[in-house]
Amino acid sequence: MTEQPIISLGRDVAMPQLGLGVWQTPVDQTADVVKCALAAGYRAVDTAAIYGNEEGVGTGLEGHPEIFLTTKLWNTDQGFDKTLRAFDVSSRKLGRTSVDLYLIHWPAPRLDLYVESWKAMIRLRDEGRVRAIGVSNFTQTHLERIIGETGVTPALNQIELHPEFQQHSLRDFHASKGIHTQSWSPLGQGRTLNSPIIGKIAEKHGKSPAQVIIRWHLQSGLIVIPKSVTPSRIAENIDVFDFTLDAADMAQIATMDRPDGRIGPDPLTADF
Ligand code: NAD
Repeated sequence: MTEQPIISLGRDVAMPQLGLGVWQTPVDQTADVVKCALAAGYRAVDTAAIYGNEEGVGTGLEGHPEIFLTTKLWNTDQGFDKTLRAFDVSSRKLGRTSVDLYLIHWPAPRLDLYVESWKAMIRLRDEGRVRAIGVSNFTQTHLERIIGETGVTPALNQIELHPEFQQHSLRDFHASKGIHTQSWSPLGQGRTLNSPIIGKIAEKHGKSPAQVIIRWHLQSGLIVIPKSVTPSRIAENIDVFDFTLDAADMAQIATMDRPDGRIGPDPLTADF
């Protein structure tokens, strides 16, 4: 396999641009799915406390401290002290004394605890327990507030992003602040795979629709974490380094963006 692209998160932290997502991966399958991904060449895994499968991820990664590991703080654990305690629980389940990237999963604005949680993330980073810190599902307003109140900019923001929901304005804001954008539900939870536009491009390159979409994320400078539990698809989703989408392909995919393309919850109105 061609060498995988790496994104620098600063402070000597290098993150593979492509990783495995494990949301909805059943607890009893997670260790095997992670091992299958490692064998296929993945070098990064994205989990979260709320996924309930951190122990399985830990088992799958046993003996592989070099694999870039992300986990996330759940909403009910927000607040300074609770964040520190939640990290202890996650790191114990994962079987690691430190993780590579720790994210606040949602801003949960009604709780109004995300600034306190962010201060605890900074503490964890300064103590060396996490190598990089970031957020997920933050809007520009939430980002401006944590940066304004702490002076610390998140390394990345993990947001819903796929061809039908391209998030250009938030990405522009990220770029202006040096925040990397990571795409969740990069395949639109599988829905985007049936698009005729994607189908034509896939046919042209002799690749699958999933490979075309993953390639689009990579060429757009996005960090991407497709999920699958099927060994053939896990392998397919990382077999994306032997072709390139051309400008016409990228322009075609640009036309798929829709204002109502969001699949998951809106961070402002999510009932958390
Ligand atoms: P996804 O867009 O990665 O789609 C996954 C689905 O697409 C699979 O269940 C399968 O049905 C299908 N699929 C995958 N590979 C395929 C292939 N090669 N051929 C055909 N079908 C294929 O969806 P996702 O799981 O929602 O998102 C990926 C990851 O993003 C998650 O596992 C999780 O780690 C992360 N995530 C984060 C948040 C957040 O709030 N931060 C929210 C959702 C997901």
